[in-house]
Amino acid sequence: MTMKSVFKGKQFYKGNMHAHSTVSDGELTPDESVEEYKKRGYQFLMFTEHEIYSNYSRFNSADFITIQGYEARVKLPPGDIRDYHFIIMPGSDEAMKKAKKPMFSHGQNLGIPYCSGYEDLQRDIDDKLDRGYMVMINHPFWSRVEYDEILPLKGLFAVEVYNFSSQIVENMGESNVTWDALLRNGYRLWGTAVDDNHNRSAIDANICDSFGGFVCVKADSLTERDICNAIAEGSFYASMGPEIYEFSLDGDRVHFECSPAAMVYLNGHVRQIKHAVAEVGEPLITQFDAKLTGDEQYIRMECYDRNGKKAYTNPIFIK
Ligand SMILES: [Zn+2]
Ligand SMILES: [Zn+2]
Repeated sequence: MTMKSVFKGKQFYKGNMHAHSTVSDGELTPDESVEEYKKRGYQFLMFTEHEIYSNYSRFNSADFITIQGYEARVKLPPGDIRDYHFIIMPGSDEAMKKAKKPMFSHGQNLGIPYCSGYEDLQRDIDDKLDRGYMVMINHPFWSRVEYDEILPLKGLFAVEVYNFSSQIVENMGESNVTWDALLRNGYRLWGTAVDDNHNRSAIDANICDSFGGFVCVKADSLTERDICNAIAEGSFYASMGPEIYEFSLDGDRVHFECSPAAMVYLNGHVRQIKHAVAEVGEPLITQFDAKLTGDEQYIRMECYDRNGKKAYTNPIFIK
């Protein structure tokens, strides 16, 4: 077996894949949002307004781009407490080539379709796939959607493992248990961290819902095509703060590199009990190596910094 890294491409680009502005129920204008994210070193931003499609090429420059898309909701029968939300974003070149229907246009209102069950949900997902988009399921914990209520849906490419706004406002932001349950059941999904910012509090407030969940995408260049191709391939990591530089598999040897971490864990479909912990007085961890047993179906890693902030790799699928 040759060396298999989750990362491809030349360089990491930091971005927020889930943002609301005054165009839907956010408080910053699109211009203000771009300014605040640029100021903090972000290289891309996806405006994902409720139902309203955004395509802001006017913000694009050599060091910052926006990515088109929107956040789709569905209306469920009365009494159903679940809230299925999806990010709709451009797919890979290959997905674009296969598209049978046109993409949406800037400002288009897609409405909230009524869904009586999985068949309706699947029809809505398929409609987006037919247009060359890829579809991510958002914030399962906040949505009160269980893993086996996602499992019947085909064609999703990712799940929001960390939704910063859901976390800081309602303590319902982390969905890594749902992610692992889906992976264990054979659903190959990438994991993202996003802000889902609405900015109802001041930008410098402790409860500000910006700048707490992001992805770093390793791509060849900062263009919408290269970023979306890299995201489709899983060439990125999700984070609340820590950085990840490498996650690779060479035969049965796992190799991982990150910014100084207090704890590093290897996860899979069964218990791994493979970790590294920096004890008091010991240097923090920047590298981790382990040998697999050979029974693994997939592996992924999480690291924690001193403040308990985490970063997650995408899985490497072995079987
Ligand atoms: Zn949502
Ligand atoms: Zn949202």
